[in-house]
Parts: sequence; C-alpha cells; structure tokens
Amino acid sequence: IEPLKKLSRAIAPVEKWLPQDRVPWVIAGPCSAESLQQMLATARGLVKSSHVKAFRAGVWKPRTRPNAFEGIGAVGLDWLKAVKDETGLPTATEVANTEHIELCLKAGVDILWIGARTTVSPFSVQEIANALRGVDIPVLVKNPVNADLGLWLGAVERLFDVGIRKLAALHRGFSTYVETEFRNPPNWQIPIELKRRLPNLPLICDPSHIAGVRHLVEPVAQMALDLGITGLMIESHVQPDEALSDAKQQLTPKDLCRMLERLRARNATV
Ligand code: PEP
Ligand code: MN
Repeated sequence: IEPLKKLSRAIAPVEKWLPQDRVPWVIAGPCSAESLQQMLATARGLVKSSHVKAFRAGVWKPRTRPNAFEGIGAVGLDWLKAVKDETGLPTATEVANTEHIELCLKAGVDILWIGARTTVSPFSVQEIANALRGVDIPVLVKNPVNADLGLWLGAVERLFDVGIRKLAALHRGFSTYVETEFRNPPNWQIPIELKRRLPNLPLICDPSHIAGVRHLVEPVAQMALDLGITGLMIESHVQPDEALSDAKQQLTPKDLCRMLERLRARNATV
C-alpha cells in the first residue's frame, strides 16, 4: 500500500491537462476512425456541447477475433489533426506498442489511452511505458478485460515509474461468461477500490463499453455520476448503424449532446 500512497500524492490533477468546468466532462468520438468526412462530421456535432472536452477515435483496433475491421491505421492520425485544427478539441487515441506511440507523438496526438486488452499484459504495458519514458503526455489506463484490480494498478504503476504524472484510470467494465444486461458488467466495487488505494488518480467511466447498447449508455453514465465519477468517455458516430465497430452502442452527436444536457440537469454542480 505504501508505494501506492506515494504514487497517488504525485499524480497531476486532471484539470492540469483537460478543463473540468462542466459536470459531466466528456471525451467523445467514434469507436473507430473510418474516414476524414466521418471524423469531421462527428466532431462538428460534438463540439456544440460545452461538456465535450476532447475528441477520441481508435485508429488501431484490437478486435477480440480476427477478420473484423482492425482500424484504418496511421492515416487516422492525420484526420485527428484535422479535427483538432477545425474544432480546437484535444485528441485521444489508443496505443498498444512502441510504433503506435512514435507515430502518435509525431502526429501531435494530445492524450493516449491503453486498451482493456493491452492492460492485461504486463509485457505490453512495460513496452508502452518504456516508449514513454521522459515524455509529458496524459495517459488513460483502461481496466483489464478481466476483473483483476492488480493488473490495473500495475499498469498505472509502470507508467508512473517512467515519469508519467498526467494519469487517469478509465473504467470500461469487465468481460463475463454469463449473460447480463451489460456487454461488460461494471463491477463498481473494483473502480471504487482502485479509488480507495489511489485517491488522487482521476477516474473516468466509459459507459459505452459497459452498456454495449445505446439505451443503456445514459443509465450507466448516471450510475457513474452517482458514485462521484464526473469524467466520461462516450462513443459517438454520425451513422451509428453503419459503424465499422461497436455499431450498437454508439450515439449520434445530437443524441449524445441531448443526453449530456439531461445528465447536467439532474446532476449540475458546476
Ligand atoms: C475502444 O475504446 O473502442 C476500445 C477498444 O475499448 P476497450 O479497450 O475498452 O475494449
Ligand atoms: Mn469501441
């Protein structure tokens, strides 16, 4: 516990790298970057909400099984840059290896995240950490797909140990063998315990991957707010049904902006 206390005290508050002047504050964008037009259209819709503080899109997609869309690749980074140039939103994408990191740093991506299928592998997390030694960039660490708090904490520690201080944990639920209403049940006790061990580590909730279906995104986001989690990452696509990944859970920018107004009306504090 002691090394974790030291770590917690040294973590940068989230407002050092992302404004938090609205509750909830949101990182939003498509599951996958698909085209420049899709990215710009989505971002133009999202930027209308003052809750949206950053734009996300996956360019390398870790799919559970082969023969699915595995991401557009590095050209997607140019599209993220185009979104930032037009809307001013900082950009975020998933990285899983050294090459991804080099390309993101060259392309000026503002925020990196480690995906749930990567957090399970200490070798991969250490490779990522080594590539980030001495780099000052915010990194969001998704929980591992399996319900293992130790792996989640371990990934945070590996990044901390190479000097990353702009860190946040990103809760996206845990895979399960049994049928549940959720795609990835939230097992709230795990993020709560993470927060108990690392009180200063910002905690963000990703209701999209917990829900797996559009109509559950709002209730899951509300549960996160009820637990005091004010930061959300939510997937949005201009034509959700046509999305190349996670079609069932993405919201149109318009629906997402409306949902944020409802959440604000129920939960406004700032
Ligand atoms: C994603 O954010 O689109 C993603 C692949 O998420 P996760 O790693 O949580 O499955
Ligand atoms: Mn997704």
